[in-house]
Amino acid sequence: MKSNSSKFYGYGKQTIEQEDIETVVEVLKGDWLTQGPYVKKFEDALSEKFEAKYASAVANGTAALHLTALALEWKKDDIVITTPMTFLASANCILYAGATPDFVDIDPISYTIDIEKLENRILNYKKEGLKVKAIVAVDYAGHPCDWKNLRKIANKYDIQLVSDNCHALGAKLDGDIGYANKYADVTVMSFHPVKHITSGEGGAVLTNNYDIFEKINLLKTHGITKNEQYLSRNEGPWYYEMVELGFNYRITDIQCALGASQLKKLDGFVQKRNEIADFYNENFSDDNRFICPHVANNVRHAYHLYPLQIKFEELGVSKREFFAKMKKDRIGPQVHYIPVHLQPYYQKHFGFKKGDFPVSESFYHNEVSIPMYPSLENDDLCHIVDAIKKVGKS
Ligand SMILES: *Cc1c(COP(=O)(O)O)cnc(C)c1O
Repeated sequence: MKSNSSKFYGYGKQTIEQEDIETVVEVLKGDWLTQGPYVKKFEDALSEKFEAKYASAVANGTAALHLTALALEWKKDDIVITTPMTFLASANCILYAGATPDFVDIDPISYTIDIEKLENRILNYKKEGLKVKAIVAVDYAGHPCDWKNLRKIANKYDIQLVSDNCHALGAKLDGDIGYANKYADVTVMSFHPVKHITSGEGGAVLTNNYDIFEKINLLKTHGITKNEQYLSRNEGPWYYEMVELGFNYRITDIQCALGASQLKKLDGFVQKRNEIADFYNENFSDDNRFICPHVANNVRHAYHLYPLQIKFEELGVSKREFFAKMKKDRIGPQVHYIPVHLQPYYQKHFGFKKGDFPVSESFYHNEVSIPMYPSLENDDLCHIVDAIKKVGKS
């Protein structure tokens, strides 16, 4: 065991235990490394846990988003809206499909897509004779969006609804852990090591729609099928046909063994994350140099991140200086996120500019993701809180 004074605290980290290791070793000793029994086991466990009819495990969360964009048949000139306060992949999947990305700013309290601004944007497009094809909503940091109203809007304007659920595994809305798939047409997950559960790299698409599920399964393995139902002819037991232009976005049995073992522990991980958040809330909420993340009263936050807003002007240091001081105290915070519309690629190709989404931009100015992962102990948390609070004083 490392002593406290040599530990380094990143913003997120996986928790791997002995049973995870044993499950993976069992696969390594077996006959299948890639397409073995654990892929289906993991998929079944995901669909049961999150109350979805179908789950397809894939190579990573970005692949899951790409396949979703293709399965929902986004095409050139289709407008797809997401939030600027997300990882690039939530927006890039729109570009992969050749569709047109747009953003709607976040709500300053929940940090998720602003419902009123969203409806206004849809109506503005309507006035110009344009229809919004889909919305990719992100449960930023692990706090669910206003899904009831998102569903209403989706129904009212006939818009496809995607839940980028990568931050929110184990979150609950009105006590329901299956809320994502209940409200969205497609739910996307990631099992990257900084997320709630990990399979190394990995991702999944969940849906109640059989056709979407089948399309995802086809596209993740080169668009190849052996299913009689889809074959134009059958030349024998070796015979297969390529019916779509697909990819190799499969996940391995090794990864799924780890994922299945981790999934069993999700509730405990989320519980621990909530305890850490309680500690941070207690220590930062009475200090007006900081703003703690708000939690709506019908929500169980999953705390993929703990996004602390810091008033650097009042702390008396710049964000850059803050990061330098954190590093000296062996803390490696991160910023989530640089608003997507400010990325040079999006500015150059789609004409977005500074000032387009002011709430996200000002949130970016203040936001720091401080360490949040289940293995943080009380001593670690005291060290982190002390280090942050003393920054302005030295
Ligand atoms: C992590 C993440 C992704 C992408 O997942 P990968 O598995 O890393 O490809 C997509 N969207 C959001 C919001 C994420 O946090």
